[in-house]
Amino acid sequence: MTAPIISLDDVSKRFRKRTQTVHALDRVSLDIAPGEFVSFIGPSGCGKSTLLRIVGGLLEHDGGEVVVSGESPARARRHKRFGFVPQAPALLPWRTVRRNVELLDELNRRGADHPSLDDAQTLELLEEVGLGSFLDALPGELSGGMQQRVALVRAFKLGAPVLLMDEPFSALDEITRVDMRYLLLELWERIRATVLFVTHSIPEAVTLSDRVVVLAPRPGRVVEIVDVPLPRPRHDDLEDSAAFHDTVAHIRGLLRHGMQR
Ligand code: ADP
Repeated sequence: MTAPIISLDDVSKRFRKRTQTVHALDRVSLDIAPGEFVSFIGPSGCGKSTLLRIVGGLLEHDGGEVVVSGESPARARRHKRFGFVPQAPALLPWRTVRRNVELLDELNRRGADHPSLDDAQTLELLEEVGLGSFLDALPGELSGGMQQRVALVRAFKLGAPVLLMDEPFSALDEITRVDMRYLLLELWERIRATVLFVTHSIPEAVTLSDRVVVLAPRPGRVVEIVDVPLPRPRHDDLEDSAAFHDTVAHIRGLLRHGMQR
């Protein structure tokens, strides 16, 4: 395998509350290759968000080692190696679609050692996700799914090598959510960033990912890292394939039965 862009070695994290200690992560080890798409799935409290925040340099781990592009997460963050896509799209209501997409780049340029996408490339992405005729619209004029598409394009525009996505589609209705999977794949096929994607949806994880990391809670730990044996590029007909159904069933079994240790 090529040298990993992200390497987690025996990573642990405890939160000390007044009367108890929460063991949020217990010896998590994982190497992620550049350009890989990896999802994290597991019940609430298994440490998915904690793991994403540690990788993104937003939270200190207290055991083991985390390396991102050869440096600590905090340094990688200072070098602007991350783009974040949160659950809510967090658009500024008074800025148009085009100006919202530019926003993070305007704020984030200092310290970055990689180029962001230029205007023509950004316009291509906006057209790719169906926003080409909404460039001058305000967020309040867009549906929730359209707003989240703006947030996705904004993250890809940064040109950051690592994109961290924490349940970006969880607030959307099911039909919009399925559409968003394939739009995200189209963007990712163009701009091969490394993606770490947190989700509660097994079909979503399987559709999108090269590998799915199944986690269990108390303590937060890796149950199994599942390879997704589906060719790319992926389209919605893959959901009819035996490999898709087998992988979904395997992960469902792990989530149902793999929680005891
Ligand atoms: P998930 O994203 O899988 O739902 P989290 O990473 O949010 O899980 O949380 C893992 C565990 O750590 C949970 O038990 C949660 O209550 C605890 N936890 C997370 N953040 C904090 C914090 N800042 N202080 C105390 N406990 C926390």
